[in-house]
Amino acid sequence: MRYNENARLDAGQVSGGGGGGRIAVGGGIGTMILLFVLSQLFGIDLTGLAGGSQTESRPDSNAYAHCQTGADIAEHRECRWVAYTNSIQDYWSQAYSGYQMTQTRIFSNQVSTACGTATSAVGPFYCPADSNIYLDETFFDTMLKQLGAQGGDAAEAYVIAHEYGHHVQNLTGVMEQVQRQGQQSGPDSLQVALELQADCYAGVWFKHVVNDPTGPISEVTQDDLDRALDAARSVGDDLIQQRTQGRVNPDAWTHGSAESRKRWLATGYNTGDPNACNTFASNQA
Ligand SMILES: [Zn+2]
Repeated sequence: MRYNENARLDAGQVSGGGGGGRIAVGGGIGTMILLFVLSQLFGIDLTGLAGGSQTESRPDSNAYAHCQTGADIAEHRECRWVAYTNSIQDYWSQAYSGYQMTQTRIFSNQVSTACGTATSAVGPFYCPADSNIYLDETFFDTMLKQLGAQGGDAAEAYVIAHEYGHHVQNLTGVMEQVQRQGQQSGPDSLQVALELQADCYAGVWFKHVVNDPTGPISEVTQDDLDRALDAARSVGDDLIQQRTQGRVNPDAWTHGSAESRKRWLATGYNTGDPNACNTFASNQA
């Protein structure tokens, strides 16, 4: 991916440094953390009902203030998180009239959220209770690579765009509808449809960047798209199960198969239309 050197970045959309600090937990940190499992990679955090923290650690909202233009990314690589976030939110504010801006919060070790305490081990996630996207950037160097993904900026951007897809689902009410059905799993579950729709939304955003390269990201190459698809594939439930448990159990799927995640990301990209992301309509997984 290339960045527009002259594009103004809005660093206020990203905060950092909130991890590792004062955490007061009602239900016990151990319990909270155990609720997160590897299979919930890129998940929505549904653990809010389990207790949650009483005090939220205050992220440093100025941690990315030095990220002023796209040119800063070359010297300060962490500014790319601002570029992804700005570009994704630019798109959704144009595409969806009900869109509400939110924040990407970057943490180390562990973080206290309105949904409870999370550690780096959970991977990036969206917390519907505070509408923020949380991520530990070491995830991309370690876990995603361990899952066999090639990585790269486009793979990172895909993950962030997927999480913002959950934010859109929270705003449209789709997320609440799915959660009302309770915890579910399996290829045909609403839970999997929800995750695949977030993948599709990520693809729609990539298409927008390619078609309108005036934002923070000026170029998305075929290699970038391949890396995004590769990342989507590598976090498929079947591949994760194969790697971590040595066998595949479709009944436990919460995010969809490698093939379906890749396919829905491609569907979003090929159509460029969020309305094409109706993963609930068909047998999708
Ligand atoms: Zn997800």
